[in-house]
Amino acid sequence: MLDLLYPDLSVGENGHLYFASFDTVALAREFGTPAMFIDEDRVRAHCREYVCAMKKYLPAGSMPMFASKALSFKEIYRVVGSEGMGTDIVSPGELYTAAAAGFDLKNAVFHGNNKTDADIVYAVNSGIGYFAADNAEELYAVNSAAARAGVRQKILLRVTPGIDPHTHKKISTGGVDSKFGAAISTGDAEKLASLALSLGNIELCGFHCHIGSQIFEVTPFIDAVDIMTSFIARVKQEFGYSAHILNLGGGFGVRYVKDDPSVSVTDNIRQIASALYDDCRDKGIDPPEVMLEPGRSIVADAGITLYTVGSVKEIPGVKNYVSVDGGMTDNPRYTLYQSAYTVVNASAAADRADLECTLCGRCCESGDILQEKVLIPRPSRGDIIAVLTTGAYNYSMASNYNRIPRPPVVMLSGSNARVAVRRETYEDLVRCDL
Ligand SMILES: *Cc1c(COP(=O)(O)O)cnc(C)c1O
Repeated sequence: MLDLLYPDLSVGENGHLYFASFDTVALAREFGTPAMFIDEDRVRAHCREYVCAMKKYLPAGSMPMFASKALSFKEIYRVVGSEGMGTDIVSPGELYTAAAAGFDLKNAVFHGNNKTDADIVYAVNSGIGYFAADNAEELYAVNSAAARAGVRQKILLRVTPGIDPHTHKKISTGGVDSKFGAAISTGDAEKLASLALSLGNIELCGFHCHIGSQIFEVTPFIDAVDIMTSFIARVKQEFGYSAHILNLGGGFGVRYVKDDPSVSVTDNIRQIASALYDDCRDKGIDPPEVMLEPGRSIVADAGITLYTVGSVKEIPGVKNYVSVDGGMTDNPRYTLYQSAYTVVNASAAADRADLECTLCGRCCESGDILQEKVLIPRPSRGDIIAVLTTGAYNYSMASNYNRIPRPPVVMLSGSNARVAVRRETYEDLVRCDL
């Protein structure tokens, strides 16, 4: 049975897949393929759920910061900003994009394990709200850039609480073996806190941890609250410093395939808040403002990608290949992590799924695969294929490998479809070539 995962997906009477009330086959005709479509109303609904739940359950001043590495272009910063979200940026390029969109950088956190001196000066001079400082070298560099700019730069310290949220290793960043942050268990986090407190042009505002991504359970976050509040209590006892911000990072899971459970953002936040208040009372600290940094759970299930089928190749006794006009250049996640996706024959969505196939891209690269063991109604050349849940870490990870132009991003809202990022042209591909 075709499971369409989300309420903004349905099958029309013409057998076409509908997304955000648009006929996807018509969208493909109008905007070309490959192309990515974002249901803006769904993005806004997700933003509102975070904003409302955090306001309702967590200490005043708590705020969700959209982790824009999941999807970064000017219009998305405008959308999340207008919903009262801050943002988390991980490079000067994302900072530049947010600034170019008019985003209020006071509500931005700058992440990264290796910010260069130039990045740091740029961010300080741009008036970035917070650095999520990762290491001692960075603290010294931020301190001197802030001194030169004549400001006191707010920072959070990124620490690793040592939690394995049981996800794919490449996206599990909160353990002790991590390139990110200072481990609590080794005493490094405390040393870094003491250093931050000693630097005159740095204002330590609190602590940050990010335990991983695509997490379906709330327990790892409750564990993080426990470890982080104990750390805050220890730092208070040792240095007399009370952290007033606790940033718990991102990581709430979304549905890529029908076996994935649904995560209730509101319920997670309610449980995190209740653990926070209990822990703070038990440990004798004031409940800090909480920041969350959702990326995937804001945009992933608000996006689909449409492709056109080129060939269907059957290798008897081996497998079948369906080739489409995009691939690892617009979605490298299967190639990188063997990530599961739901694939739909958007031209014949209601037909019987009678072809098991490997959905592959157009790159000269055998590993250019979007998904294996896909069961869909047998497509033919010209049919439209939809890959669902592609709003996060697809467009933002897209490349020009094989000199393939990146697809456009089209925002759908009500009955309005507008291009937010145009399709790259061949001239764009040679823009930097001298
Ligand atoms: C990637 C990342 C996030 C977002 O994670 P999601 O799983 O997309 O919610 C948040 N914070 C930091 C520091 C990250 O690296």
